Amino acid sequence: MRRIITINSNQVVKSLETRKLLTKKLQSMGFEVRYDFHPDTELIISIGGDGSFLKTIHDFDFPDVPVVGINTGHLGFFPDISPDNIDTFIDAYLNGDFIVQNIPLLGASICTDKHCFDMFAINEVVVKGDKSRTIHINLKVNDKHVEKFSGDGMIISTPTGSTAYNYAAGGSIVDSSLSLMQLTPLYPINTNAYRSFTSSIIFSRDSVINIEPEYRFDNSILIVVDGVEHRYNQISDIRIYTSDIYIKLVRMSNYEFWSRVSEKFL
Ligand code: NAP
Repeated sequence: MRRIITINSNQVVKSLETRKLLTKKLQSMGFEVRYDFHPDTELIISIGGDGSFLKTIHDFDFPDVPVVGINTGHLGFFPDISPDNIDTFIDAYLNGDFIVQNIPLLGASICTDKHCFDMFAINEVVVKGDKSRTIHINLKVNDKHVEKFSGDGMIISTPTGSTAYNYAAGGSIVDSSLSLMQLTPLYPINTNAYRSFTSSIIFSRDSVINIEPEYRFDNSILIVVDGVEHRYNQISDIRIYTSDIYIKLVRMSNYEFWSRVSEKFL
């Protein structure tokens, strides 16, 4: 039976060189190598940094196939393998000497006065003002009012996304074995005029977060999913929840979350 591996690479020279080398090695072992997604592929290899990894997952529409990253980028939180360790990785893969981390996605159902759209995020969904104005949001959880938020916006992140934009905005790093959603405010206003929580709020994975923008000036809400901007006219409600969809991220068997955090951040 033919074994297919799909390689998705960014256009950086180092990535393209790595793709060429990897293709040659895999073909010499009898694998069919594709650069587009094939339904019978047994593994997807993303070459680049975290940004490329996120793009691979979105471009391939959240595949049910294991994905591994080779890091030619800057930080490389998702991609676990260095281009210098390709041979070690291929050996480990052939011997089944790896672990698969299931990464749950956030679901976001965005409704305007006309339609609803569904989106999924690996790192986060950001809701913010499009025109650098203060935005005002009625925040509910499980249909119960939590606060009327005023400020720049808010990030709702997965545990995996906690080390990305969430962390830069003052949110907490979350152990990847925990199942929760973290809402981190972006420049919340907390004065006599407006009252907003100023720290992150942690919700259980079963919670449903409702964000209802209040339009005072214009139609100015911007939604950013894993770094990609989406604009809709007159958003009435954004419902955010932990979806049942998982990404199967392949890690080397010596992977340990907190060692990785110290190595990358300190
Ligand atoms: P990008 O340039 O692709 O990413 C910005 C930085 O975030 C890069 O260094 C990237 O790593 C790193 N990153 C991405 N996911 C991560 C994760 N789960 N843990 C730790 N670091 C992570 O930016 P983009 O295309 O605008 O958006 C992609 C992601 O960037 C978003 O999902 C968001 O989390 C993050 N972002 C961060 C800020 C901020 O920190 N102020 C602002 C906007 C967006 P690589 O260098 O390996 O690519």
